[in-house]
Amino acid sequence: MATLEIRDLHVSVEAENGPREILRGVDLTVKQGETHAIMGPNGSGKSTLAYSIAGHPKYTVTGGTVTLDGEDVLSMSVDERARAGLFLAMQYPVEVAGVSVSNFLRTAATAVRGEAPKLRLWVKEVKEAMERLHMDPSFAERNVNEGFSGGEKKRHEILQLELLKPKIAVLDETDSGLDVDALRVVSEGVNRVRETGEIGTLLITHYTRILRYIKPDHVHVFAGGRIVESGGPELADKLEAEGYESYAGAKETA
Ligand code: ADP
Ligand code: MG
Ligand code: MG
Repeated sequence: MATLEIRDLHVSVEAENGPREILRGVDLTVKQGETHAIMGPNGSGKSTLAYSIAGHPKYTVTGGTVTLDGEDVLSMSVDERARAGLFLAMQYPVEVAGVSVSNFLRTAATAVRGEAPKLRLWVKEVKEAMERLHMDPSFAERNVNEGFSGGEKKRHEILQLELLKPKIAVLDETDSGLDVDALRVVSEGVNRVRETGEIGTLLITHYTRILRYIKPDHVHVFAGGRIVESGGPELADKLEAEGYESYAGAKETA
């Protein structure tokens, strides 16, 4: 079983008045088959964690390690990360001009699987996955992210998850901008992939609402650029009732 290990991760961004440390010693282990939720107030550094694992050039790792089965993730190219079995929704460009969803997905699957999926089988696979996500078939012919609504972006994300079958997936704010119906469809998609037992999921969110649909095994509170408390699903209930108020002391990262 694959294991993603984050050890004492420190990350800075270049701000106007010089580098600013955002992540201040993150420790986390996510194994295949487990679902972890990271929850925290806005500005606590959750997206920075996701971008850092994805290898976004804006974020400089100043200390610590990220490994997948002992392999150094931080020295891998974005493609190598995908081939190693990491799924990071934000690793792809916001818009891919002139590339249809269908072609984009096949290229991504080719990169991950090491060979191009047979076209006929592939078309069928995509069609079925789209049906499960209640997506209109015409979506496959649209250009990636061009004019996608918030809900379409999220469905596209889960479509990739279903088709690329990663070992570890990092989903940042998958719930944001979704109405209740879309949230249910997206959550069902995540749960379908989870039920295979072959994916480890790191679900990053500000709101507790998605956790009514996706039940995490572990919940971590993120504040001030690090994990300040970890527990089971009951911790999400506590956050839903009490909010992040009691963590306010750790809130400021600057
Ligand atoms: P969250 O996802 O928890 O809301 P972020 O990781 O987006 O938090 O942001 C954490 C802090 O880092 C914020 O204060 C934000 O302004 C700052 N930050 C994040 N990315 C950048 C960046 N590229 N340049 C400057 N500051 C950034
Ligand atoms: Mg430290
Ligand atoms: Mg964020």
